Amino acid sequence: MPLIVQKFGGTSVADSEKILAAARKAIRAQQEGNQVVMVVSAMGKNTDMLVGLAAEINDHPPARELDMLLSTGEQVSVALMAMAIHSLGHKGVSLTGGQIGIKTDSTHTKARIRSISTERMQRLLDEGNIVIAAGFQGIDENFDITTLGRGGSDTTAVALAAVLQADACEIYTDVDGVYTTDPRVSPEARRMSHISYDEMLELASLGAGVMHSRAVEFAKKFSVPIHVRSSFTDLPGTLIVADPESNDVAVSGAALTKNEVRITALGVPDVPGSILTIFSRLADRAITVDMIVQNIGLDGQADVSFTAPSEELAAALEATRDAAQTIGAVRVVYDDMVSKVSVVGLGMERQTGVANEMFGALSQAGVNIQMITTSEIKISVLVEQASAQRALRTVHQAFNLDQPPKHLTPLTERSAQKNQSPLDVVALLQGAGMEDLIIDAVTLDQDQSRVTINGVPDSPGVATKVFEEVAAAGIFVDMIVQSYHGDDGLATLSFTAPKADLKKSVLVAESLAKSLQFHSITSSADVAKLSVSGIGLRSHTSVGMRMFRALADAGINVGMINTSEVRVNVVVDGAQGERALACLQQAFADVMQ
Ligand code: ADP
Ligand code: ASP
Ligand code: MG
Repeated sequence: MPLIVQKFGGTSVADSEKILAAARKAIRAQQEGNQVVMVVSAMGKNTDMLVGLAAEINDHPPARELDMLLSTGEQVSVALMAMAIHSLGHKGVSLTGGQIGIKTDSTHTKARIRSISTERMQRLLDEGNIVIAAGFQGIDENFDITTLGRGGSDTTAVALAAVLQADACEIYTDVDGVYTTDPRVSPEARRMSHISYDEMLELASLGAGVMHSRAVEFAKKFSVPIHVRSSFTDLPGTLIVADPESNDVAVSGAALTKNEVRITALGVPDVPGSILTIFSRLADRAITVDMIVQNIGLDGQADVSFTAPSEELAAALEATRDAAQTIGAVRVVYDDMVSKVSVVGLGMERQTGVANEMFGALSQAGVNIQMITTSEIKISVLVEQASAQRALRTVHQAFNLDQPPKHLTPLTERSAQKNQSPLDVVALLQGAGMEDLIIDAVTLDQDQSRVTINGVPDSPGVATKVFEEVAAAGIFVDMIVQSYHGDDGLATLSFTAPKADLKKSVLVAESLAKSLQFHSITSSADVAKLSVSGIGLRSHTSVGMRMFRALADAGINVGMINTSEVRVNVVVDGAQGERALACLQQAFADVMQ
């Protein structure tokens, strides 16, 4: 018999009427001949309320106790849901994470799933019950209750769909699908018919709160097609599958992380191992960082900046200050009034000029870009919080995201099919770590050169001018990083381009140097880009660290860095390329597929 997992978010179970409506949906699916597992979130804003209550009593509540408290939200809703099913004359059994056997590690408040037992759920289903699973929670090896991180019920749902080899995983929420950006921020946003795992993964981790990013990691890893749809209407919704909606467009979505902090360690000794110390201190505290930017040091000193979610400010500052002291950095500064605006698209890999279009639109709207990082399928800029929403709407408009793409890619058999995963689900279930790291490749690109512009002034439009000219010269830029504007109001802008284009790139930079008052331009004709690719690399904070450690141990200095969900890239001196590749291959040998 087909099996369906249906997940209902907080607003979809906010009151008794809505709980009954959700129960009717599940019963209907059962009557249509399916076995049904419901995954339910806490009612309405219940989790926020509990977090607030904890804060009234303790500024730093112990994480174990917070999990004990927060897990009660879901326990309330599964019990009520089971009562609703019974009141409608059907059989339903509620189960907590512990009762299902969702085993996690012990990282309270952001635990990762290790394994899930299916026997009890399967038995209940075979007896004709609707199984009602509490989202967002599990237990660790000491039987302590853990939670998976805010928004984690999505992850419970997709994980259950994976282990039960479900035929469908439906995410019922308060929007009728995945939009090109948050429709509550930009009413002009457009619902997508489908979106690829990789794009959804990036968007989710860059602020599109409609899906928990780890749920998308699971879906990709185990080939679970996800169907996001409205609890309140019967509209078609959006499928999250292997293929993008269109192969023609460069950008398919935009996202905003409103509350970010930027932290910068100034005067970091530019020697192998400095970044390792900083990021290992952060990884020890399981802090997920983004937009890592290192200035190429002119005087043996570099500035290292990164962004983190604002709720991590205190912990991230503590970690960075601790590291700064160890490595002898000059000081640590931060800004907690910044937001990150990003565009995402698989098509970016094939098109030039995407970055310059984004920068151009922002400068025309008078938005100043404080920092830039790019990866193969995303561009992120850091802006002041006050202009964040305007920035998001500006880029949405610039890439015509409100308009459907001219050519839609039809859903192929492959993308709509379940369980195409090369991974052996059963083996994973019995072994440790459903959410363990998977690395599929470590690669070396020796065709790159680097240009660095020092002393970039703090005014809108500078990056635009540079990349307009670069694009006009037909140069295909790969990585772009711009550091933050320091105390002197100046930033450093670096980019990589094919070796054959180095001369042209330097000429472009030099031609702008006078009018834009750059301090100096340096370049390297021979850099090597090393990439580690896999699934969920950013939430596995250990990946960057493993890379930095391996390179530091080999005495190799890291010049530029960029991270995405599917890849971490570092740029090193070209002469070190082969050696760096060998040591990274060795460092990841145990997790390579
Ligand atoms: P639930 O409680 O059902 O899990 P969430 O609040 O977690 O619901 O997620 C749904 C919300 O995600 C929407 O109300 C919407 O404001 C927000 N959102 C952010 N980005 C997007 C997007 N790209 N598409 C759709 N919704 C989005
Ligand atoms: N109730 C939890 C939260 O609010 C989990 C979820 O809704 O996904 O974060
Ligand atoms: Mg949610």
